[in-house]
Amino acid sequence: MFSTWMEQRNLPDFVSGEFDGELAISRFERLAASVLPGSTPVAVKLTVEKRSDKLVLIDATLSGRLEVACQRCLEAMEVPVDGTLRLALAANDDVVADAPSGYEPLLVDSGGIAVTDIIEDEILLALPLVARHAEADCPAPVATSQKVFADTTTPFAGLADMLRDRH
Ligand SMILES: [Zn+2]
Repeated sequence: MFSTWMEQRNLPDFVSGEFDGELAISRFERLAASVLPGSTPVAVKLTVEKRSDKLVLIDATLSGRLEVACQRCLEAMEVPVDGTLRLALAANDDVVADAPSGYEPLLVDSGGIAVTDIIEDEILLALPLVARHAEADCPAPVATSQKVFADTTTPFAGLADMLRDRH
């Protein structure tokens, strides 16, 4: 469930507010394209504090488990999404100095940025570039090249014998 204040793009339009709930993945266009359709919503705890028309503080905690396709077997694999975010959205460099310590400054240009975009970016960053099960958990058969290698005599077996014979 989204509230319109989370979708404002210009800092002067931001309002202070809190959100504590779940956000459905289908609502995030880019994210929906990166995860499997069955993914459960991500829990989001969010506080927006508007200090001025030029400085807005964002505190967010995300937690959830998304499903992505393993690039080896194409089966679903779970990726945990846990993170905290402390951002100071600033209209210009001058107001960055007014942000309390511990907040990462983010300059917002004339295009603006919505809180929902920030959350989506953060979740996307938590996803692996190439998702793969750990080898032991992956149902895909071992790659053919590895099998062939295991079935043939290793090239150094003869060398070991040779070294042993010298002693
Ligand atoms: Zn796999």
